[in-house]
Amino acid sequence: MKRRKAIKSIGLGLTAGLWLPSALSSCKKDDPGPEVPFDGTVAIIGGGAAGLYTADILSSKGINVIIFEASNQLGGRVRSLRNQHEILVQTSADFPVELGAEVVYGSSSSWGNIIKNYTLTRIELDTLSTEQFILENQAKSATDWGADADLQAVRNFIDSLPSYSGGDVSMNQAAGVNARAQALLNSLAGNRFGSNSDRVGAKGVAEALSLIEHDNAAYLIKTNPLQDLITSRFSGVVGKVQLNTAIKTINYSGEKIILTDQNSNQVEVDKVIVTAPLAVLKTAGIAFSPGLPAAKVTAMNKIGMDHCLRIIIDFKRNFWGDNSGYLWGGTQGPAYFNPGVSRSEFYRTLSVTVHGPKAKELSDLGDGMLDAVLAELDAIYGVASLYVRKQLIPDPNSVGSFIEGDRVWFKADWGKDEFFKGGISYLPPGSSVQDRIDFSAPINNKVFFAGEATDDKGDAGTVNGALNSAARVAEEVVQAIINA
Ligand SMILES: Cc1cc2nc3c(=O)[nH]c(=O)nc-3n(C[C@H](O)[C@H](O)[C@H](O)COP(=O)(O)OP(=O)(O)OC[C@H]3O[C@@H](n4cnc5c(N)ncnc54)[C@H](O)[C@@H]3O)c2cc1C
Repeated sequence: MKRRKAIKSIGLGLTAGLWLPSALSSCKKDDPGPEVPFDGTVAIIGGGAAGLYTADILSSKGINVIIFEASNQLGGRVRSLRNQHEILVQTSADFPVELGAEVVYGSSSSWGNIIKNYTLTRIELDTLSTEQFILENQAKSATDWGADADLQAVRNFIDSLPSYSGGDVSMNQAAGVNARAQALLNSLAGNRFGSNSDRVGAKGVAEALSLIEHDNAAYLIKTNPLQDLITSRFSGVVGKVQLNTAIKTINYSGEKIILTDQNSNQVEVDKVIVTAPLAVLKTAGIAFSPGLPAAKVTAMNKIGMDHCLRIIIDFKRNFWGDNSGYLWGGTQGPAYFNPGVSRSEFYRTLSVTVHGPKAKELSDLGDGMLDAVLAELDAIYGVASLYVRKQLIPDPNSVGSFIEGDRVWFKADWGKDEFFKGGISYLPPGSSVQDRIDFSAPINNKVFFAGEATDDKGDAGTVNGALNSAARVAEEVVQAIINA
């Protein structure tokens, strides 16, 4: 794999004076590293994990940064239901419900290391005891499926993916499982990586998995919304963020770079780091002048980023069983998850995560997406529609009485949101991690690229990938300044 030229490692520091809510105590203070002399300004486009961490590192070096965030909140694809204050009816959940990232991968990964600095209870997703698998409309644990050959075939394929050495084909072609298990394969090898099993390439995933250096721990945080952890950890740079500011054009033709936002306000900066999601860039959500180099456009177009939908449904009963976490193998809902597993005695909330063409199909149904998902759950459990919780509203015919109103459910339609236009990046057949590296190549030491889609450590599509890319781009910017 070719990364541009080798760059000398710099100490990556933290901004001093972290503000921590009392529940999030004991953050270690790292060495802030040497100051970098620079009297210009570095603009960062995007206030997600990548943008905030980049800002944090550069600030700790004494570099002046400004962050432009298009939406009205920080965190990007780390977004928690509890923080969406315009939602007046909340779930009955007494645990955090996530609209984007929910599982933390790795104890000593980039995200795991941040979390380690807080005293938080982890819920380990012990896959064997909490996973359920759907085959022929029946949901059972692996133990209960016993020696089912189709389930075994899917699981063996997934387990051996890091050492996959077959052709550069889709997951579906690579696995070649029986029709009965294809929805299951789609859940675990397609949807899990950002699209469906016809669109995700086996070689790309295998290459990424083989690059990961951290452990495989997968866990939830018991009581803290992940968005709060991001804003807490990066509180030192929150004051440098301009919310509701979508950068529409980046003109880097002159000595200074001119950024123009949606209201035609302009600002001049010396360097810019673009962390907006890949799908935003691929659909020209930001116009570059001059246009992006052909090699970068080619690399971007080789990487996929498809529609994505998260649906949260509140029920009156947890009819899916006491110990189940993930439920794999649905066709409408390729990934059902019980976010209350081990977090609550009274969990009655299910989340559904859908990537790829199915997410677009459900999105196009509008509110009909709820019925499509419930119909599938009804086919498995019989009672899902019956148990959807309904809002209680005052009875117009009887003062002081209440009647049932709308069903309680929420959706985050990431694919429809103009600041995301999709879920996570993935490598289709014919692409490789080298395309991520080529996409991230800086232009003229002035325009730099970060964000999960540029990660080259095997963590793309996760918060780790976003954070890894921040560390990499901060080094690139510092080296560009030092070597100028
Ligand atoms: C449904 C879902 C589930 C996921 N589950 C997990 C999980 O369990 N575990 C995990 O580790 N990861 C998960 N991920 C992936 C993870 O959330 C992302 O990889 C990570 O948060 C990406 O961070 P980022 O900084 O690269 O991009 P983002 O978080 O997308 O940040 C980019 C920011 O740029 C802003 N922006 C866009 N356009 C402009 C513009 N023109 N001007 C200014 N700002 C702009 C956006 O508003 C956004 O805030 C999930 C993602 C989704 C969508």
